[in-house]
Amino acid sequence: MKFNTKTIHGGQKPEATTGAIMPPVFMTSTYAHSSPGEPQEYEYSRGENPTRTALENSFAAIENGTHGFAFSSGMAAIDCVLRTLKPGDEVIAGDDLYGGTYRMFTRLFEKYGLEFTYVDMDDVSNITNVITEKTKLVWIETPTNPLMKIADIKAICSAVKEVNDTVLIAVDNTFATPYLQRPLDLGADIVMHSATKYLGGHSDLVMGALIVKDANLAKEVHFIQFAAGAIASPMDSFLALRGIKTLHIRMQRHCENGRAVANFLKKHPKVGAVYYPGLEDHPSYAVAKKQMKDFGGMVSFRLKDDSKEATFKFLKNTNIFTLAESLGGVESLVNHPVTMSHASIPEKERLKIGITDALIRLSVGIEDEEDILADLEQALNL
Ligand SMILES: *Cc1c(COP(=O)(O)O)cnc(C)c1O
Repeated sequence: MKFNTKTIHGGQKPEATTGAIMPPVFMTSTYAHSSPGEPQEYEYSRGENPTRTALENSFAAIENGTHGFAFSSGMAAIDCVLRTLKPGDEVIAGDDLYGGTYRMFTRLFEKYGLEFTYVDMDDVSNITNVITEKTKLVWIETPTNPLMKIADIKAICSAVKEVNDTVLIAVDNTFATPYLQRPLDLGADIVMHSATKYLGGHSDLVMGALIVKDANLAKEVHFIQFAAGAIASPMDSFLALRGIKTLHIRMQRHCENGRAVANFLKKHPKVGAVYYPGLEDHPSYAVAKKQMKDFGGMVSFRLKDDSKEATFKFLKNTNIFTLAESLGGVESLVNHPVTMSHASIPEKERLKIGITDALIRLSVGIEDEEDILADLEQALNL
């Protein structure tokens, strides 16, 4: 099956008793056993639930994995990956990460004896230079949130595995989605999503996903999901599955509108730097072009007048773009990383990588392109 068919049919079959095309929302915690010690296929919904199973099969299909897992949030999915490690293990991560990921690494898992090294993943040798025998995980985000940096997944996977092939490589694929890039095909071991964003696609749920392609790793992830219990609910699983069925057409439009917005901002006299991997002057344009089918719907930029006043004025003046956290829904959103999504990163750390007061992040929705550009134009000119 091609990707555009997998989003609709991947891992799906009509429901066994009625032939229902969509899996019913199995609102049940438990299932009858045929006799003591003989559960049937389903036993208890923390372990498995048929609606969640349908979604998890879809996750596996669209990322070309063998096993998918649905969690109660993106953070719960990342938490699960870190629980495969033990005190003393080392993690190498990118230096521009989603704020919540950085917060979880520094404020939760450092306490439990994991050690994190943050490197600029633009250059593969920055990663291989810091691998030790204790390195157990490489955590990649690409494109990064919010600076749209690009890491070369294939190059990183082959370089890391050459030094030590037991190191697990995980990719947060939230921004790109499998429509644009499929990390397991490029050599990664684990794909993670905040399904809250593009996979769900309608800003109506909070959910995380993990997808793997190795049976032993799948067993371990399933054990942690079951034992720690941060599972996705049946209703959210139903909604996410419905969302995935239109992922390919939504992403196509997100990419078209994202490109139009990046080009518009690039030419605008009031706009300074624009961060979008589809712009030819993006430092990793060549890698992005090779790695991704298209460039997505996330665009960051700064005004030429990079004062806080000018930035806040813009943020308050958009109409179609709603000022809100999150991204990846059908509607356009504008976010101020310093006060919103990346508020948990200490000032010194964020200034080091360029997350200043003047940075603005757009999640370009799938509304009409003309309306989107007109909204930006009026907000820039007020
Ligand atoms: C939102 C987000 C997360 C966290 O996911 P939640 O569903 O909010 O818990 C992780 N990574 C990236 C890139 C995100 O945008």
